[in-house]
Amino acid sequence: MTAPANAAALRAIPSVDRVLREVAEVALPRPLMVAFVRRELDAVRAEAAAGGSWEAGSIIQRVRERLHALARQRIGPVINGTGIIVHTNLGRSPLAEEAVTAIADVAAGYSSLEYDLTEGSRGGRGSYVEQQLAIVSEAEAATVVNNCAAALVLILRHFASPQRPAVVISRGELVQIGGGFRIPDILEASGATLREVGTTNHTTIDDYRRAIDDRTGLVLKVHRSNFYMAGFVESPSTQALSALARQRGVPLVEDLGSGATFPTESLGGEEREPTPAEVLRDGVDLVAFSGDKLLGGPQAGILAGSREHVSALKKNPLFRALRCDKLVLAGLQATLDLHLGDRADEVPILAMMRMPLEVLRERADRLVDRLDTLPLKVQVGEGLARMGGGSLPRTVLPSVTLEVAPTDGDAGGLAARLREGTPPVIACLGNGRVKIDLRTVLPRQDDALATALFAAAGGGA
Ligand SMILES: *Cc1c(COP(=O)(O)O)cnc(C)c1O
Repeated sequence: MTAPANAAALRAIPSVDRVLREVAEVALPRPLMVAFVRRELDAVRAEAAAGGSWEAGSIIQRVRERLHALARQRIGPVINGTGIIVHTNLGRSPLAEEAVTAIADVAAGYSSLEYDLTEGSRGGRGSYVEQQLAIVSEAEAATVVNNCAAALVLILRHFASPQRPAVVISRGELVQIGGGFRIPDILEASGATLREVGTTNHTTIDDYRRAIDDRTGLVLKVHRSNFYMAGFVESPSTQALSALARQRGVPLVEDLGSGATFPTESLGGEEREPTPAEVLRDGVDLVAFSGDKLLGGPQAGILAGSREHVSALKKNPLFRALRCDKLVLAGLQATLDLHLGDRADEVPILAMMRMPLEVLRERADRLVDRLDTLPLKVQVGEGLARMGGGSLPRTVLPSVTLEVAPTDGDAGGLAARLREGTPPVIACLGNGRVKIDLRTVLPRQDDALATALFAAAGGGA
C-alpha cells in the first residue's frame, strides 16, 4: 500500500504563506494570489491523497508555473510582428488615436448616449452613428449590433418565421469563417431551416428559382471572404438574384463580412472586395459587415439597407440583447468621422496597408543600427504581409522584416522569450531566424520593439 508515501506527500505540502513568499515575483493582486495558491494546494492535496508523491520543491515549482501562466492570460498590448494586419487572435483592428480618445472621454464620465440635448429628454441611442453608417454605405438606413455574427442572427431570427422558416442559400456559400463560425450552424441555432441550392462550385439562377416558395423567409448570400474558387465556377449576379427575390417578395440579404469602404484593388492585388454601397446598388435589401475588419473600427456588426427592414430589425426584441455599448459607439463614431472626413489614412489598418516600402526600410535600417551591440545577427529582409481577418485571401503586400538569428542558433527560444517580454512581441520563424514584419508594427512601437529585442537577447536595454 502507498499510505506511508501519501502521508509523506501530504506532510510535504507547504503552507500558503510559504508559497506566496516563494513566488513574490508574480505581480498579481494579493487576494487573487492567495485564493489561487489555496486552490492549487488543495489540488495537490487531493492528488497526494490519491497516491501521488510530492515534495515541497516540486509543489512550489508547479504553483509558480501556473501563476506565471495565469498572469500571461491577462489581456494586454502586444507588438504584432506577424505581418497579418487584421489579426483575429491579436484583436483585429488597432483603433485610430481619435477613436481611443473618444472612448476614454465617454468612458470616464456621463455621456449623451440616449439623451436628446435639444429636448432635454430621453433620445435615440446611436442615432448619429446610424446616420454615419447609412451615408458610408449609401443606404437609406443603418444600425449596429455587437458583431457581424450577431447581425446575422438578428436577421435570421427576424425574417425566418415559423410560417416562412426556410433560408435559401447556395452550397458554395455554406462557409466557415475563422474559429467556430459556420454559416449552417448559425442558421440552425437561429431556428431557421436550411434550403441549400446548387453545388459547391456551380449555382444558377434557376436553382434559386426552383427553391424559393411560400416557405421561404429570405435568400442569403454569403461573401466568400476568406477563400476563393477558380475553374468551373458559376453563381448568378446579384442583380439577377435581386430581381428574382423581388418578384417573389422575399428579402435578399448579403453577409459581406469585411466591409471595405475603399477600392481594395488599389492595394495592388487583383482582388476586389465589394463595398456595402455596391452590393446595395446591385439590389440587395440588407447588407451586414464587421466594424473591426476593413473599416478599422471597434468590434461591431453593421446592418445597412432599406429603411423598412432596418427599422423592423430595431423593433425585434432580440435587438435589445445584441446592441452595442457606449464605448463601442464612441469608437465607431470617431472612426467613421475619419472615413467621412477624407482622413481614412489615420485609420491604422489603412495606414499599414499603404505604408510605402521605403518608409518600412528606413525604420528597419534604424532598428538594425540600434541593435548593433547585441549578441545577435540582425538584418533587414523581405516579407509578405496579408490583410487577415478573412479578407482578401489572395492579396499579399510586399513588406520589410527584421530577421534575427540568435548566436546560439535557437530561434524558437528567442521567439518564446520575445513572447514573454513586456510588451510581448509576436514574431514568425523561418530559416532558423525570428522574423518581425514591420508593416504590422505600429511606428510608435519601434522603440519598444528595440527594447524588447535587447531584453530577449540578454543585452540589457
Ligand atoms: C468575419 C465574418 C463574419 C463574422 O464577423 P464578426 O464581426 O467576427 O462576428 C461573418 N461573415 C463573414 C463573411 C465574415 O467574413
